[in-house]
Amino acid sequence: MGCVFCDIVNGKLSAYKIYESDNYLAFLDINPRSKGHCLVIPKKHYSSIIELPEDKIFGLFNVVKIVAEKVVKNLNASGINICINNGRDAGQVIPHLHVHVIPRYGDDGGEAIEVFLPVREELREELDDISKKLRM
Ligand code: AMP
Ligand code: ZN
Repeated sequence: MGCVFCDIVNGKLSAYKIYESDNYLAFLDINPRSKGHCLVIPKKHYSSIIELPEDKIFGLFNVVKIVAEKVVKNLNASGINICINNGRDAGQVIPHLHVHVIPRYGDDGGEAIEVFLPVREELREELDDISKKLRM
């Protein structure tokens, strides 16, 4: 089956490339959520972070940091959301691992993650149970 991002890597599809190295590529998202929304991918096809071999993690996030620095320096972003949608239930549409680098500009109207401080009492038991499961 074809993969849109593999097609960008092998040149069958064009993209607004902004950074390229032997194993990684960064390009503009064609449907940007903010000015300068970029995607960073490993050139080799892995479907999600679960499949990505451990020794590729540093390289991938090294490029994420390079791109993050570029949007701050060259576009004057005042914040950056960095995220990966892993799996269809998490909103992943293109099944080739990609890291979203979404510059933020203060009054851009985008979403922010709500913060609850301190921990809400009704969640204490659930958080306790989940943390035990994740520690195992
Ligand atoms: P996700 O929902 O995490 O799979 O995000 C896929 C992203 O890929 C979306 O933000 C799309 O706008 C973007 N996208 C889809 N096709 C292309 C393309 N040909 N070039 C650049 N970005 C694309
Ligand atoms: Zn692919």
